Amino acid sequence: MRTLTKEMQKKITPTDAVELLKKGNERFLNNLKVNRNLLQQVTETSEGQNPFAVIISCMDSRTSPELIFDQGLGDIFSIRIAGNVVNEDIIGSAEFGCKVVGSKLIMVLGHTQCGAIKGAINDVQLGNLHFVTSKIRRSIPSVSSQAEGDLTCGVTRQNVIQGINDLKANSPILAEMVRNNEIKIVGGIYDVATGQVEVLDLDQEVLGYMMKEPSVNLTEGVH
Ligand SMILES: [Zn+2]
Repeated sequence: MRTLTKEMQKKITPTDAVELLKKGNERFLNNLKVNRNLLQQVTETSEGQNPFAVIISCMDSRTSPELIFDQGLGDIFSIRIAGNVVNEDIIGSAEFGCKVVGSKLIMVLGHTQCGAIKGAINDVQLGNLHFVTSKIRRSIPSVSSQAEGDLTCGVTRQNVIQGINDLKANSPILAEMVRNNEIKIVGGIYDVATGQVEVLDLDQEVLGYMMKEPSVNLTEGVH
């Protein structure tokens, strides 16, 4: 897996970028991670970076995008914040990644068992945490099920959709890039129990599960 150059980045389409992440997650699920020389990548990226995607994901320690998508140095911008909420700082960072540096994809990535989602549902009060939970709580009314597990899943998914809407609604730059097919903005849900990412492409309805039946048992053969 070569370190991305500007020429390589330019050739990647937004659809390609989705596929690159899918393939990376498949490698992760199959324990077939690319054997990268990270020190060599340090040298190769020392003059600049050409990441193909911007991932906006939760700070959760189990959901590191570079690991779950099997990416190396210089491959993805990783923006992390509790509950993968989108604020003006996040939007500005995503605009920089796409408009200035040339990334082709933004993925808003939620995950199962998210503490921020649960905290928002339970309206936990702690210091400045309400800035995060208040953004997530906007997604609660649109989820009909009130059963605890279903509600958490529904709010997790709706919060990803809300994040995508926040990006498009508050960034004329990103909205225009989407209209011009220069970038895609998609959602994703990472399952902390399986390692699998479900991609949500709202422009083409739900793409569905990337791999319904992982070919390895994740509880064994880890080396
Ligand atoms: Zn989380």
